[in-house]
Amino acid sequence: MTDTNLSAILYQKLDLRLEDRPIPEPKHGEVQISMRKIGICGSDVKYWTDGRIGNHFIVQNPMLLGHECSGVVSKIGPGVTHLKEGDRVAIEPHGVCRCCEFCKHGRYNLCPNVFFLATPPDSGALARYHVHGADFVFKLPDNVSFEEGALIEPLSVGLHASRRARISLGHRVLVCGAGPIGLCAMLSAKALGASAICITDVDAKRLAFAKEVGATHTVQIQPDEEAEEVASKVATTLGGAPDRTIECSGAQFSVDLGVYATKSGGVFVIVGHGPEKVSFPIVNLVAREIEILGSFRYVNTWQTAIDMISCGKINIKPLVTHRFKLEETLEAFKMAKSGQGVKVMIDCEKV
Ligand code: NAD
Ligand code: ZN
Repeated sequence: MTDTNLSAILYQKLDLRLEDRPIPEPKHGEVQISMRKIGICGSDVKYWTDGRIGNHFIVQNPMLLGHECSGVVSKIGPGVTHLKEGDRVAIEPHGVCRCCEFCKHGRYNLCPNVFFLATPPDSGALARYHVHGADFVFKLPDNVSFEEGALIEPLSVGLHASRRARISLGHRVLVCGAGPIGLCAMLSAKALGASAICITDVDAKRLAFAKEVGATHTVQIQPDEEAEEVASKVATTLGGAPDRTIECSGAQFSVDLGVYATKSGGVFVIVGHGPEKVSFPIVNLVAREIEILGSFRYVNTWQTAIDMISCGKINIKPLVTHRFKLEETLEAFKMAKSGQGVKVMIDCEKV
């Protein structure tokens, strides 16, 4: 076992350094985890390139990146009974107050006192060791790999959105955007019983990949198209208007498309966020009673996701396209930024 804690620390925009930090000790209710795999998320890349996301999340002090993670429990803090040293685990990046009305109602993703890994001012987990609240650490069965364990985070975003959309047997579903989150929404919708899923993107390579990993239909968005035209293309492709739409591109175009495409009385869930403000074709959405819902992170998805991966109903593995060591973090971030792959994974174990 190593006695150093190599950590990927973002000092400010474009200033990402690898440094040894003290190994954190678990306090009451916490466990120390020897980290194994950490996926790079679009938000990690954004903090690195821009030092901020919007006007709320600004890197002001050095912080670790990384919140899609798995590892092995290396030390148990006092009061922890459901885990032991050596357990292989996936980490839910939350820490919540457990006291507010949202926590008490089981909607802890809305807790105003939330701690969330790698979201300034909160630091992340891209290091050899990380300490985490044990109630957000979940044991992995032997047949779920560390990479799959790390992918539970983006999968959870898709699963939560699909639950918000109340997707069920036989639904036709439209997913806008074939990035990691769109793919995770597609896989979740399929597992929940959707019979046909059309995914859109501007990028033909991303659509080809989406088809390989399970989308039944794809529609490529062309630069000069109107959203209403694409909506009828989607309906033709799916054999009927989608009962449910999940927006995972952050594009204004997809917001328009989601309203025009969704079947009257259907549900349109918005996950993506690009600009601070977008517009909606309001008469269309009102006159056809489209339900619009936001979807933020996830609630109580880890065990479900672990079980769905373990039993083979969700195959998340193919999403990993590039692999790097912790020492190669900067190269890993350059690859993630290039958009060439889908999910870039960092191995934190010292060899
Ligand atoms: P990504 O950038 O990898 O993927 C977005 C995809 O949308 C890309 O493939 C891009 O080519 C495509 N796209 C761009 N314009 C499009 C258009 N007009 N129509 C269709 N597709 C288009 O991002 P990601 O990591 O997959 O995340 C997707 C979105 O979800 C982002 O906006 C991100 O901020 C958001 N997000 C939200 C939550 C949440 O809790 N609500 C969590 C994670 C990510
Ligand atoms: Zn709370």
